[in-house]
Amino acid sequence: MVVPMLEVVGLHAAYGRIEVLRGVDLAVPKGAVVALLGPNGAGKSTLIKCISGLHTPTSGDLHLAGVHVQDAGADELARLGLCTIPEGRAVFPNLTVEENLRLISYAGVAADAVIDVAFSYFPRLRERRSQLAGTLSGGEQQMLAMSRALASDPALLLLDELSMGLAPLIVDELYETVAGIAASGVSILCIEQFADTALRVADYVAVMSGGRVVATGEPAEIRDSMVDVILGGAA
Ligand code: ATP
Repeated sequence: MVVPMLEVVGLHAAYGRIEVLRGVDLAVPKGAVVALLGPNGAGKSTLIKCISGLHTPTSGDLHLAGVHVQDAGADELARLGLCTIPEGRAVFPNLTVEENLRLISYAGVAADAVIDVAFSYFPRLRERRSQLAGTLSGGEQQMLAMSRALASDPALLLLDELSMGLAPLIVDELYETVAGIAASGVSILCIEQFADTALRVADYVAVMSGGRVVATGEPAEIRDSMVDVILGGAA
């Protein structure tokens, strides 16, 4: 049996006494794009926080490429190839595009290589290399945030609401790139509240509602059966 890149088994998590994740089961196969959909408050961001070591689950298991990472800190997870692009992007607004990219060049990865990879995925960043990141459009800032992630050569990329606040055309463009990143062998879990573009690119879809994954399948199956939940009809 092939070991998935990410496996979540029976995960429970709470804020104080309020249980928010109630036994989440989820797998991301190697090299696949999995879209995690669901209405506000379903627990998607909490799941991302648990996977990335920022919130401690109350019970359940997390495996990254077969390694048990339930108690791993964010540093160890990064060493194992996990990279999270949080909602809201996180670029340095008062630095230029190029300075942002130079800043994320890692020990052992030359800044020029980071910049080359960023510009090959996102030619628009090359045109705007001298512009302050804070003055980029939302979509361009997302491209810069994704370049940061690619520089770390991730095995698993977690994308939290890539499409938040962006025009549909830009979202399509970004998801084209997500598909390209997956084609290079990176596994991707993308969280979205609204589904259309993510459904086009995803290999598999998981729908969360009320702190559980209530349906998983290929996009066509999910699109027909879960439209109410995906559109926020049930929480
Ligand atoms: P959205 O799409 O609105 O971001 P979500 O599916 O990501 O929603 P979560 O952000 O994980 O959902 O929230 C799940 C539940 O946990 C919600 O009821 C939320 O109010 C609650 N919650 C989230 N963060 C905290 C916190 N820090 N303290 C207390 N409750 C929280």
